[in-house]
Amino acid sequence: MSSDLSCREIPFFNYRKAFVHYEEEFVEIFRDVLHRGAYILQKDLEEFEAHLCDFLGVKHAFGVGNGTDALTIGLLAVGLQPGDEVLFPSHTMVASAGAIVYAGGVPVPVDIGPDHMMDPADLERAITDRTRAIMPVQLNGRTCNMDAIQAVADKHGLFIVEDAAQALGSRFKGKCAGTFGAAGTFSFYPAKVLGCLGDGGGVVTNDDHVADGIRMLRDHGRLHDAEIRTWGMNSRLDNLQAALLDFQLRTYESTMQRRREIAAMYEERLGDLAEVVLPPGPNDDPNHYDVYQNYEIEAERRDELREFLKVNGIGTIIQWSGKAVHQWRGLGFDVHLPKTEAFFTRCMMLPMNMVLSDDDVEYICSKILAFYGK
Ligand SMILES: *Cc1c(COP(=O)(O)O)cnc(C)c1O
Repeated sequence: MSSDLSCREIPFFNYRKAFVHYEEEFVEIFRDVLHRGAYILQKDLEEFEAHLCDFLGVKHAFGVGNGTDALTIGLLAVGLQPGDEVLFPSHTMVASAGAIVYAGGVPVPVDIGPDHMMDPADLERAITDRTRAIMPVQLNGRTCNMDAIQAVADKHGLFIVEDAAQALGSRFKGKCAGTFGAAGTFSFYPAKVLGCLGDGGGVVTNDDHVADGIRMLRDHGRLHDAEIRTWGMNSRLDNLQAALLDFQLRTYESTMQRRREIAAMYEERLGDLAEVVLPPGPNDDPNHYDVYQNYEIEAERRDELREFLKVNGIGTIIQWSGKAVHQWRGLGFDVHLPKTEAFFTRCMMLPMNMVLSDDDVEYICSKILAFYGK
């Protein structure tokens, strides 16, 4: 082991480094957009939306204010009615459930399966005569087994709205996350795989009618002109942010590749370690193409491991402050989801981002192995 591996500072995410990597290009984009005075619903947004459609293989894409608005708008555009129940996995960000509430629905949490994603086998249990929709969450850059979820949706006549906030470019059987349901949504929060310099989100659909609904909802009820047709919100992706995203989308293939490479390195070094459970590897299953928004593991003596890594300069986090959505008392859920609850006693995330070097990953792995006495 080379000597520069003896001590490192590896924050969980390094916003400054991420900016500096593209500093010249970003400043040039700022200058260009600001000189044109092009801020709201301008050509850079239209171009980004068109490129997003091409990339995903979907008919319509809309930039909106953030990933949470994207979900609310998607649910409303698809026709969610007040009191409709929507099934979602409790292993997700509170935003998934919050959006259901703000769209007038009732969020109903379900458990996770062995892959830590929404468990298709737990859906039937939660279905009532008020259930209207399923919200699969394409978590950590992986797409759920959409065949199994679609089968339940078809059987019960439910629509699907995907929360693909963490999964731009992830695929199941060759089809992109976000393009399975009536609508799919993305987040461009700075730490997401495709991130802007603030808040941003996207909604996609193949349905022309849903597309019109999204267009009106994000812009005060306006469709293609100044006429107000319905009640709407103000949730438009800034043109400047769209320009920054469009620029990064051009090299997105190599971004996904690099993250998969890092996942393969973790797998190579930690795969045999009995004390940890790793996420599925990049080449484990030909049905899945994962983009590794996060690298979430389960670990024995998790809290001690995190402390040990911290002392050695390595930042880790436990997703969403360490609780599943249904475990936040203030939200009023009264349900027991054993697999999700057990998972949250053991889960944590290792650094996974574009500024990690191979040596950084090696250093992280060597410290984890050392912690377990290997
Ligand atoms: C980030 C995220 C959201 C919310 O996106 P924002 O852009 O922060 O509003 C929703 N769901 C999941 C799973 C997320 O990770």
